[in-house]
This record gives sequence, C-alpha cells and structure tokens, in this order.
Amino acid sequence: MPGESIVKAGFIGLGVMGSPMAGHLARSGLDVTVYNRTASKAAVWVARHGGRTAATPREAALGAGMVFSCVGNDADLRSVTLGPDGAFAGMGKGTVFVDHSTVSADLARELYDTARAAGFHFLDAPVSGGQSGAEDGRLSIMVGGDSDIFERARPVMERYGRAVTHMGGPGSGQLTKMVNQIAIAGLVQALSEAMNFAMRSGLDTARVIEVVSKGAAGSWQMDNRAATMVRGRYDFGFAVDWMRKDLQICLDEARRNGAALPVTAIVEQFYGRLQEKGCGRLDSSSLMKLLSE
Ligand code: NAP
Repeated sequence: MPGESIVKAGFIGLGVMGSPMAGHLARSGLDVTVYNRTASKAAVWVARHGGRTAATPREAALGAGMVFSCVGNDADLRSVTLGPDGAFAGMGKGTVFVDHSTVSADLARELYDTARAAGFHFLDAPVSGGQSGAEDGRLSIMVGGDSDIFERARPVMERYGRAVTHMGGPGSGQLTKMVNQIAIAGLVQALSEAMNFAMRSGLDTARVIEVVSKGAAGSWQMDNRAATMVRGRYDFGFAVDWMRKDLQICLDEARRNGAALPVTAIVEQFYGRLQEKGCGRLDSSSLMKLLSE
C-alpha cells in the first residue's frame, strides 16, 4: 500500500490535536520523532508512545519520509517551518510535509511553492472532529496540494482520519476548513441561544436535548456540546482563541472573494468578548457564557 514504505516520520506540535494524532502514527508502527516548543510535553509523549524527541523542528524532519505539523496560527506555522531551525531545512528530496494546522490559504500556497522549489512536497491538510475525533482516529481531513502526493500521504493520514479528501490544488484544504468554520460559527451561537432559552423557560434541558436532537435541529454540536453548555463546562476541546483566529481567516478570505458573512462577523466579535473576559482557552461552546451571565 502506498505510504507503507514511509517508516520514519516527524511530528511537530503536540497540543490537544497533535499529541493524539502522533500517537496513532506511533501505534501503527512508524518510527516517530517529535518536536514540541515546550520540551516537557515531548518528553511525556515519548515516555508513553516511544520514538524520540528532537531539539528543533529541523531535527524532527531529518531522515523522515513524511513530516506533520499541528500548531496554532500563521505565525506559529512559519516559525516551525522556515528559518535555519525550521523543519523545511531538514526535509529530504521527494519527502512530504503535511500541515494539519488551520491557517490562511495564502500561507498554504506560499509553503507549497517554497517546498516545491526545494525539491519536496507540501500538503495543506486541516482537520475537523475535535479532540475526541483526534483521540478516536476519526477526523475529517480536507487536503490541498498535488493529487499524486495526496495519494501517497492518504494511507498514513487514514491512521487518524476517517474522511480524508483531496479538495484540489494548494490552499484548497484551508478554503474547505473555512467553509467548515463558517458553518459552525452561527450554529454554536444558535445552540447557545436555544439552550439558554430552554433553561430560562424552566424546561428539563436533558429531555429537550433528547427530543430536539432527533429532529431537524440535531447536529454534532448538539450531540456533543449542548449538555455541557447547560452545565457551564468548557474545560475541553477547541479553544476560543483558535476559533476567533479561524473566523478572522474566513473574514479576510471573504473580503477577497466577495462572500457575505454577516452572522460569522457577529460571532467573531462575540469570541472577542470572551477573550477580553480571559476565556481564550475555554472551549468554543462557551459562547453560552455571554448569554447566561
Ligand atoms: P494547542 O493545544 O494549543 O496546541 C498547539 C501546539 O502548537 C502546541 O504543541 C504548541 O506548543 C505549538 N505551538 C504553538 N505556537 C508555536 C510556535 N510559535 N512555535 C512552536 N510551536 C508552537 O492547539 P490544538 O487545539 O491542538 O490546535 C492546533 C491546530 O489545530 C490549530 O491551528 C487549531 O485551530 C487546529 N484545530 C484544533 C481543533 C481542536 O478541537 N482543538 C480542531 C480542529 C483544528 P506548546 O506546547 O509549547 O504551547
């Protein structure tokens, strides 16, 4: 099977998403070298999964057939890929770099060009499915880049992805992730308003969720977040900081392609309010806090 010949892999960024994704690679038999900015997290990961730690992203890439990253925003991805200690400086000819961070399509295209000029390949491969999707190996992965390189990388990404789809040329994975985030933003706000309304009406919220989720209002967000929103539990999952970053990427892109995003623009401001309250690391379902406090 293509991808089976890649024995050594590098993984950069062992956060909420990267740590379990790299864990799936190690469990599937790859020899994984990990880099994490906070070195203690890399040491904990190696104690659990085996493999090696690297002192720099470049060192994690040396000798690897495929290198993966899952860091924060555009600036973070630049800092782990470019420059003398960046992973790109360690990539061998013909190898593949797969980025799972959510960043701008512009940066994805720039890194694709930089990789190509240096003789290796780049795929933008943002993910959806949250912390539980990463842990259970059931992520949706939307991929931009060359189709032959996608086919080479697909079997490896399938170790943590259940829907791994090539969307087109460089940047199209990130554009698809923007569609995903636009669809989620208004939905989470609507779910917050619905659950706040249910609570203020004195209804039994568990029974509300039970019946409503089986009808036309059902969604992944309702199945996975409505009950925790009612309990005010937001200490998990997808950070407000990341959601605001994602919506700003969507709004920037929409200014270029002319798409109207009125609801997304309002929800982006609500996430800004949460950040001002010091809630940047709470789960993005904490939009509910703005209604219930
Ligand atoms: P996270 O838990 O905050 O982890 C971020 C990782 O990136 C950490 O390993 C962090 O290192 C590293 N990092 C950040 N800035 C860096 C820099 N300048 N240089 C080197 N390393 C840096 O984030 P996450 O939730 O895993 O999310 C990672 C990416 O996936 C983001 O782009 C996010 O939007 C996207 N995403 C997240 C989810 C989700 O549900 N969490 C879902 C889909 C997509 P330290 O340990 O040193 O901080």
